[in-house]
Amino acid sequence: MKILVINCGSSSLKFQLIDSDSEAVICKGLCERIGIDGSQIVYTPEGKDKVTKVTPMPDHNRAIELVIEALTNAEDGVVKLEEIGAVGHRIVHGGEKFTKSVVINDEVIKAIEDVSDLAPLHNPANLIGIRACQKVMPSVPMVAVFDTAFHQTMPEEAYLYGLHYSYYEKYGIRRYGFHGTSHSYVSKRAAEVLGKDPSELKMIVCHLGNGASVSAVNGGKCVDTSMGLTPLEGLIMGTRTGDIDPSVVEFIMKKENASVAEVTNILNKKSGVFGLSDELSSDFRDLQAGYESGHKGAKRAVDAFVYRVVKYIGAYTAAMGGVDAIAFTAGVGENSGFVRGLICNRLGFIGATLDDEANKVHGEDKIISGADSKVKLLVIPTNEELAIARDTYALCK
Ligand code: AMP
Repeated sequence: MKILVINCGSSSLKFQLIDSDSEAVICKGLCERIGIDGSQIVYTPEGKDKVTKVTPMPDHNRAIELVIEALTNAEDGVVKLEEIGAVGHRIVHGGEKFTKSVVINDEVIKAIEDVSDLAPLHNPANLIGIRACQKVMPSVPMVAVFDTAFHQTMPEEAYLYGLHYSYYEKYGIRRYGFHGTSHSYVSKRAAEVLGKDPSELKMIVCHLGNGASVSAVNGGKCVDTSMGLTPLEGLIMGTRTGDIDPSVVEFIMKKENASVAEVTNILNKKSGVFGLSDELSSDFRDLQAGYESGHKGAKRAVDAFVYRVVKYIGAYTAAMGGVDAIAFTAGVGENSGFVRGLICNRLGFIGATLDDEANKVHGEDKIISGADSKVKLLVIPTNEELAIARDTYALCK
């Protein structure tokens, strides 16, 4: 079956067409600047050159029409419309309602709407993507795959904040966690690479990308994760603060006569390694270059980032009463031997050692721990689209 995977943001839409039998990507692409001047669709059909078409995209309906046109046109199209058997949608927030992927119907759409106040930037955009697809492909089954679902196994002691319990009861204020599709995929794949069943392993997954999060996966089930009510909590990220004292918000508001929205913007867009590096960059390639050439801000940012990851690994080792394997994934985790090295070289306290030669790996499954290491260290490239396609196929076949 050919599965179309859609990841719809407020002004962008990423897509992949995946063959469920071979798990090959038949075409992948991106619609950018939807509803803004200068919109374009960029896509790469399997085995062909990248195509870029600058064309007006007033809304997501038009973007979906262009995706379908890109996939089915006579010139470089890869399928007939009727061959698309199902559509899988990435949905950011499923609240407590969704513990796994589901076939989309009116009730599911209503439930996604109901939790939209928990992800006001993302869920409405995800819903627009669902509706636009329903318009163009009314008889094709669709599946919702939630970023939060994998973390729904967290116990109460891990997901509750130390806030008055009534706020959880009234508004659902608790830790939900994100990147769940990635943490789930990587933890399963790491177990496969180690030749073990997930039920036998205490694992820590470090998803280190522009957004970054860590999860503790005990026996295949998530028992803790670093992101919270929103994806702002936890690790220091590209431009996000991660954990801070909430009083910082009021403090900056008073000092800079700023609004809540302005401070929220600072915490999300001007902070993290970007802010700590004197705005050198949020990209770890630039930060590594800066670190190695003696840029003080780059060193400060990378050291703080690494320290926070190590701290979470320590905390999750304690939470699970031990750890058997630590997997690194996402842009930094898959590609930066430099950052992995800085992290792993601080893990002697759990008996972990790094194989420096193996750690040179880029973007492929690899065990990078030394032969004497008490904890397996791995690089596992994430593949959220494939995980979405697998769930979609399982529910629609
Ligand atoms: P992601 O959010 O998973 O797409 O990760 C994007 C981030 O990965 C970029 O901002 C970079 O910081 C980082 N990244 C990508 N490639 C490399 C690389 N070769 N070396 C170091 N960092 C990289």
